[in-house]
Amino acid sequence: MAAELVINSGVPSAMPAALMLLLGLAVSRLASYVALDLARRVRVLRTRTGALWLLGAAMALSLGIWSCQIIGIAAEPLVFPLGYDGIDSLTAWAVAVAVGLAGLGAVSGRVATPIRVGLGAFALGTGVVGAHVVALTSLGLQPGITWHPLPLVAAVSGACGGCMMALGAFFRGGDRTRPATVPWQTTAALVLGATLVASHQLVIGAAGLGEQTASLNADRIASTTLAMFASVGSIALLLVGLILSILEARLRRSLRRAETELQRRSFRDGLTRLPNRLMFEGTLAQAVQQADASGERMAMLFIDLDGFKPVNESLGHHMGDLMLREIAARLKRFARPEDRVAHLGGDEFLMLVRGNPSAEDATIFAERLQALIGEPCNMNGREAAVSSSVGIAMYPENGVMAELIAHAEAAMRAAKSGGGATHCFFEARMVSGARDQFDLLRDLRRALAEGQLHLMYQPKVHAPSGEITGAEALMRWQHPQRGLVGPAVFIPIAERFGLIGAIGNWLIDEACRQAGQWRDEGLRMRVAINLSAYQLRHADLADRIDAALKRHRINPQLLTCEITESVAMEDASNAIRMVEKLGAMGVNISIDDFGTGYSSLAYLRKLRAGELKIDRSFVMDLETSADARAVVKLAQALGLKVVAEGVETEAQHEILRAFGCHELQGFLFARPMSALALSAWAMDDEGTRGLEFRDSLYKATVAGALH
Ligand code: C2E
Ligand code: MG
Ligand code: MG
Repeated sequence: MAAELVINSGVPSAMPAALMLLLGLAVSRLASYVALDLARRVRVLRTRTGALWLLGAAMALSLGIWSCQIIGIAAEPLVFPLGYDGIDSLTAWAVAVAVGLAGLGAVSGRVATPIRVGLGAFALGTGVVGAHVVALTSLGLQPGITWHPLPLVAAVSGACGGCMMALGAFFRGGDRTRPATVPWQTTAALVLGATLVASHQLVIGAAGLGEQTASLNADRIASTTLAMFASVGSIALLLVGLILSILEARLRRSLRRAETELQRRSFRDGLTRLPNRLMFEGTLAQAVQQADASGERMAMLFIDLDGFKPVNESLGHHMGDLMLREIAARLKRFARPEDRVAHLGGDEFLMLVRGNPSAEDATIFAERLQALIGEPCNMNGREAAVSSSVGIAMYPENGVMAELIAHAEAAMRAAKSGGGATHCFFEARMVSGARDQFDLLRDLRRALAEGQLHLMYQPKVHAPSGEITGAEALMRWQHPQRGLVGPAVFIPIAERFGLIGAIGNWLIDEACRQAGQWRDEGLRMRVAINLSAYQLRHADLADRIDAALKRHRINPQLLTCEITESVAMEDASNAIRMVEKLGAMGVNISIDDFGTGYSSLAYLRKLRAGELKIDRSFVMDLETSADARAVVKLAQALGLKVVAEGVETEAQHEILRAFGCHELQGFLFARPMSALALSAWAMDDEGTRGLEFRDSLYKATVAGALH
């Protein structure tokens, strides 16, 4: 069958030898391109995937070598039919794969040294010639081939030279560590493809074909059939390889882009696009190095907006965001090229002023900055303005690099506590408190485990009758060295450093346990606990309270949760949800320190609390201030139960009674006392200051009051 296809050689009449040569060139060039493209990946990947890419590259190259042999031999003007033995052909191909692996493997290291390139070119060149020799031998020509050594040496050196040029071009395009650019890779593929074809021609020359009269494999796979198969099949396979390689490169590029974007985001604030703390600290380290080298000073400005929260709450978070963006843009415009600006989150910004500023320069800088921030912001047609407090720490006078931001922040806090809208320079005394806080935090961690926390109870009295209705649990810390520490000192620390969760849980359980004990003693005492912002944010708060009530068999109506007005405002929607949950359980909700937050009446209605507790500051001013009296009236107008705290004088007591307040609490009646003292006090028929206890307090436990 093979013989019929052949006229006087392996070449079908329709395909002249020149065309076959061109076809061979095209296939080998394509193969070289794909092989180099895959090899490029090996250089950047040192993983198992890299090994797979190397195998792919070797396969592509071997396909090129093999096709170039088959097509080349088919183009030879021999007067007898040629054929291939399947096993021998596979062997020739396997040799070509090995050649590819050796040659490309030598240059696939992360760094391509000249020695590696030379070795790779040598392996490839000799390998390619070797593969051609095997292929020719596998034709089984009769009589056998007599190899002419000189042309063979020329073939080897020509092939090595060609490979050297190709790999040289491939590595010229990239540097020693980076892969080649596409034009260089194309050039390298051209040279390598031509080398494959030329070396094959040289090997054929070295074989001195012409005297042979037969091929032992003439009846196996016809040379022309294989040549056609080799050209079409190889081109198809190589194209698939190329497409895969291009797709993979695209995927890799898009992954790289995504990674860059992620990296960029992790260094920038999402809202204002200003550098965040992480990035700022990086630039600060550089700036400090330069300042140290040149002996220049720097000024760190910590900027905090005054009254930003009310803007956010009254105009909505969207407007708040617009305002922050506008202020960030102003800071960016204001900063000189050498200065650095960052957004720490919320309403806090940092500015590092470089260029050797004096304290006077920093003052002028801060004042200008504050004036700029204070200009009204136009947000979608609505105008609002905020002032700012600025803390300044000078480098190197005010601390080393690691302390600079913290010191500027301490100075900002000092500016804030002075009423805000001003700037303040750092002074050492500003952080002595911080060190103290650190010590307290360390001790507080131990306090809970060692039972140093306990609750004091301050009674609440029924205003019209003066009888005791319940008590508020107030936490105390019996510090081993410092003595009794008040909640105003340690609760903020516990909130800031994540201890309030454990402390709050202990409080819930302890207050319920005490209520249970009073009940067992025959006192039906209502108990109020204070909830922190952190506790309110925790979805399991209601479950915890429910569990504690059940554990100690307390009627939920005997428990009141006091939530400070400003805390309830901090996360309004969450507070509304939590209050609803607790309300559904039957627990009472009281808005503590009423008048000090920023809540609107509409919000208070939504919050569905049962009680308002007027802040002590208004009670104090009742006798002298009409405003203070107005707050009490407002509370009453809301139709909720009104409690006044901090009642210290008879005059205040009288006014509050006249206003119709329901309950009163304050030193006038009783200071916070231990649970034991409270039960003794409650049992004492005489009472104190002539106070009576409501009957209910003395009644034996009522079945209905219990679960
Ligand atoms: P608060 O809930 O408004 O508690 C009332 C505070 O005013 C108590 O201070 C109480 O001792 C004090 N006080 C009561 N009557 C008078 C008075 O007539 N005159 C004066 N000058 N003060 C009076 P305390 O115990 O130092 O608590 C301060 C704040 O700490 C509490 O304010 C509350 O917000 C918080 N707190 C107390 N215990 C806890 C707790 O267990 N958990 C949480 N999250 N906060 C607590
Ligand atoms: Mg309270
Ligand atoms: Mg209060």
